[in-house]
Amino acid sequence: MSREFIYSGSPAHIIFGEGKSATAGEWVEKLGCARALVLSTPQQKADAEALAARLDSLAVDVFADAVMHTPVGVTEEAMEVVRLLKADCVISLGGGSTTGLGKAIAYRTDLPQIVIPTTYAGSEVTPILGQTEGGRKTTVRHASILPEVVIYDPVLTLGLPVGMSVTSGLNAMAHAVEALYAEDRNPISTLMAAEGLRAFKTSLLDIVAMPKAADARADALYGAWLCGTVLGTVGMALHHKICHTLGGTFDTPHADTHAIMLPYTAGYNAVAVPKLLAPVADIFGGSVGAGLWDFARQIGAPLALKDLGLSEADLDRAAGIATENPYWNPRPIDRQSIRALLQDAWEGKRPA
Ligand code: NAD
Repeated sequence: MSREFIYSGSPAHIIFGEGKSATAGEWVEKLGCARALVLSTPQQKADAEALAARLDSLAVDVFADAVMHTPVGVTEEAMEVVRLLKADCVISLGGGSTTGLGKAIAYRTDLPQIVIPTTYAGSEVTPILGQTEGGRKTTVRHASILPEVVIYDPVLTLGLPVGMSVTSGLNAMAHAVEALYAEDRNPISTLMAAEGLRAFKTSLLDIVAMPKAADARADALYGAWLCGTVLGTVGMALHHKICHTLGGTFDTPHADTHAIMLPYTAGYNAVAVPKLLAPVADIFGGSVGAGLWDFARQIGAPLALKDLGLSEADLDRAAGIATENPYWNPRPIDRQSIRALLQDAWEGKRPA
């Protein structure tokens, strides 16, 4: 069998370890900056203010209005603050929503970003930005979007509620599953994807049993780095397309949608590429779809689209939108098969 691939390493600096968020100031200086704007959601404002206080004169202010799906209106408000205070870098403290705001500012200004992730979604290591305007979500991929420095401090995820740990972990796992069969996969992305899935398999089970288990938190964050990195380096297919459709058109919650859809999309594609998805079957046991579904149930993840407020009548429209523009997928896609897949996911039926 011939082997052919293109590999480009990510230029991001990754700092990983307990307590490492205390080095944020050093990284502001290493970037040649002195006026950091700290970003967060309203829910994490107190943590952002504490970080800004520790940074002392290196932080110019806190902007704590980040929300999910990066609305352009919020980015424009943050841009006003950036201009007014002459910020020369941003520090995003939070999950994918806060990271999204930092990326949106960097995309418009090319300011360097330091991200301190507090969920397992994996956005911090991708050059991808999804933003919403007028009810439409569009995605851009650009070098300026990739954060320069990511500080993974597992201590900051000790308090991440178990439900959110589970869904953001499954969100990251979906990046890895799709990376295993990506058209532009390479040996490194495949190694990272399988290692990321293994890290989540044990850590999510442990977090559910013992939410304060420091080792499990560190392993989950390690999985987030691996799975996020592969999302940033290879193209995605059916799974991300369907989740984008459901989130963008029906406003279903991002991480829950990924968590529910993963066993169905992976099971669908496993029919065409069983060898490429063999690591998933090995790690989770049994068949790809059923193995992932059993794991999701074991860790208490949401299992059915109907529980996200989606009506059965919405499925026809969702299948139409998800198949209207052709894109690469290892197994051919047509409206009828995607409609059937959505029906199973809506009911929460264990994949065959
Ligand atoms: P989130 O950032 O929306 O966080 C959800 C809530 O949890 C927020 O209120 C947040 O403040 C809170 N929270 C975060 N960490 C916490 C902690 N440790 N303790 C307590 N509360 C905490 O959730 P998410 O799933 O990380 O991010 C979802 C967003 O990320 C979506 O907008 C999605 O599109 C985006 N995303 C983007 C990419 C990419 O590569 N572009 C990848 C994955 C996700």
